[in-house]
Amino acid sequence: MAATVSEHLLDWYDAHARDLPWRVRPGAAPPADGSWPYRVWLSEVMLQQTTVAAVKPYFEAFTTRWPTVEALAAAPEEDVMAAWAGLGYYSRARNLVQCARAVARRGGFPQTEAELRELPGLGAYTAAAVAAIAFGQRAVVVDANVERVVARLFAIEAPLPGARKPIRVAADAITPDHRAGDFAQAMMDLGATICTSRDPKCLLCPLSQACRGRAAGDPARLPVKAPKKPKPLRQGQAYWIEREGAVWLVKRAGTGMLGGMRALPDDGWSARGDGSGEPPLQGVWESAGLVRHTFTHFALELSVHIQRDAPAAGGSGEWWPLDRLDEAGLPTLFAKAARLALAD
Ligand code: SF4
Repeated sequence: MAATVSEHLLDWYDAHARDLPWRVRPGAAPPADGSWPYRVWLSEVMLQQTTVAAVKPYFEAFTTRWPTVEALAAAPEEDVMAAWAGLGYYSRARNLVQCARAVARRGGFPQTEAELRELPGLGAYTAAAVAAIAFGQRAVVVDANVERVVARLFAIEAPLPGARKPIRVAADAITPDHRAGDFAQAMMDLGATICTSRDPKCLLCPLSQACRGRAAGDPARLPVKAPKKPKPLRQGQAYWIEREGAVWLVKRAGTGMLGGMRALPDDGWSARGDGSGEPPLQGVWESAGLVRHTFTHFALELSVHIQRDAPAAGGSGEWWPLDRLDEAGLPTLFAKAARLALAD
């Protein structure tokens, strides 16, 4: 089965590969300027937990501004954080800078999965994807798309997350020694375009003859997922402090939630608990409404309060001109809060 699957899939990929800005066409040579591993790594980091459509403009902006890993390594961290604003999971942006600096120090990306894994913030998935796609090394690359295709192909009935191990073993069994990068991308493409979550198009699938999930009927029910626990709901407050055409922004603590990002002052809410409800200033606060936002492990209801012509702001921060607010790099949660305040 293994050889048949990889042959059919690679033939299909040669004809149907998605055209993506961080890709080269099957069989084409990567760019000769040495930027290829950088582009592969950057796209894989950006694509985690995010859609292709959301990533495209960010990838374009990053590679225009920082065309090489050395250029990114030399960038101030706060510039990178601001450019990342809106993509979410901000620890990825911090890790991105750390990783770029480590790569620049060692004179380029290492080529093996094991060495890539040693770079700061580079997880098992990204190491495998970069080794396979950028360097053609045989590596087992399993993202959510691949997980779905493999669970169906082998009719793996065990529920996720427990099924990850047998899925990985099965993915390993069908990964070829040659064209490992194309194979990984072909599996991702098949999952994204044919073997989709709700509506697998089995009649168009190059693997339909080999697919046990299809033979068993109703492959869309695979992979089985263990029921999700409801996310806890946290309450917090954010404070819009305005004076003479500027708003008071603070820098969040480096290691916590949205660490290192510019933000409105808040009352210390976190994944573990509600905020204190204590404003950073005395005075009269006007309510601007409520922002709802969902993080990986919890949901947040953030009440936004406004004080205009504020006499002074609390703690350390900076007055940021309102007409340049879009350059502050506010993460999505605080950008939503700012929109509420400005609409008030
Ligand atoms: S035959 Fe259907 S279920 Fe099986 S891999 Fe192809 S699209 Fe997915």
